[in-house]
Amino acid sequence: MARQPQPQQPAPPPEPATTTGGPPPLEAGGVLTIDLDAIRTNYRMLAARVVPGECAAVVKGDGYGCGIEQVTATLERAGCRTFFVAHLAEARRVRAIAPEAAIYVLNGFSSAAGPAFVETYARPVINSSVELAEWDHFVATSGWTGGAALHIDTGMNRLGLTIEEAVAVAHRIQSENHGVELLMSHLACADQTNHPLNDQQIRQFRELRSLFRGISSSLANSAGIFLDSSTYCDLVRPGVALYGGNPTPGRPNPMRQVIDLKCRILQVRNVPRGQTVGYGATWTAKRPSRIAVIAAGYADGIPRAAGALGPEGAPQREAIVNDRRCKVVGRVSMDLIAVDVTDIPEGAVRRDAMATLIGAGLSLEEAATQAGTIDYELLTSLGRRYHRIWKV
Ligand SMILES: *Cc1c(COP(=O)(O)O)cnc(C)c1O
Repeated sequence: MARQPQPQQPAPPPEPATTTGGPPPLEAGGVLTIDLDAIRTNYRMLAARVVPGECAAVVKGDGYGCGIEQVTATLERAGCRTFFVAHLAEARRVRAIAPEAAIYVLNGFSSAAGPAFVETYARPVINSSVELAEWDHFVATSGWTGGAALHIDTGMNRLGLTIEEAVAVAHRIQSENHGVELLMSHLACADQTNHPLNDQQIRQFRELRSLFRGISSSLANSAGIFLDSSTYCDLVRPGVALYGGNPTPGRPNPMRQVIDLKCRILQVRNVPRGQTVGYGATWTAKRPSRIAVIAAGYADGIPRAAGALGPEGAPQREAIVNDRRCKVVGRVSMDLIAVDVTDIPEGAVRRDAMATLIGAGLSLEEAATQAGTIDYELLTSLGRRYHRIWKV
């Protein structure tokens, strides 16, 4: 017998309060502040934009590194009723915070996972004909009515039924009860406004929707919302924009910044001209230099691959010390980076002061570009060793 949802006592929403996590500030190499008020503002801005459509929230990857519980609680209070995660384990964490929300699991369905979907009251996103067959069998044998989404591939070639498969099952899905509550597809190039694939995917999804009348539909991620109102459909699925990522790369960021990362200066040392700094001796002092050694490295989510110089042609990595932008030099170590503070008056940079790696004018997007990556990757890599402050 399928378990039906338990009637919920409407519990009074807990009073929002600033919370902390990780090691205490004096023991941590850095302090990561997550501005939950900014996440709420970002959600409300997106939700207002897509009215009368609904705005869901994508909270996979530990809420893009910001803490899935804290983010879910914040968004639920802001009126969010639908959440997307990638894994069932993430769905469980959302369910513990949001007892009444619809929770979709993007990575799909398998027969073996059926009971866990029931237990979590989560909805699988069905990503292939094989998954659809397993889902149908599960629904028929268990009587489960918890719902699912049907994902159609319109050009991403990652997950989803092909258009031909979708056309073939459309009549059956509409006439029999498969529990499909949502028809969705995903844009491959929404962050490139002029990419021809956008129009093609929007057009194909519109045609598909006409075959699945009466079923809600969803197409847009963060960038999709800023592409064109024809992507809104019934439900939008922003992720990165909620967390302050730029949904309009190359143009000013319409979202509020969420992340502030400050890391401790362990010492300031003099490096004579001609000497090198760090592993591989990749940086040589061209003048007598003062180097601040900072307690954050690749074990804390500071990307190492591109080195301090960053990718070819990209601006060199920076940190803000004493309100000034300074260059990161040499390789990123596991626990340390080095910053050239020669241009700051001697004695002004102190041991135990904090350098800003993200925030205070050095945006998440800029920090990502300098590190040769994207804001998504910086967010989801944010380290576990920071003292964390969730500000309300
Ligand atoms: C991750 C994901 C999203 C959210 O994308 P953003 O670009 O972060 O807004 C939406 N839909 C699907 C299918 C995803 O996998």
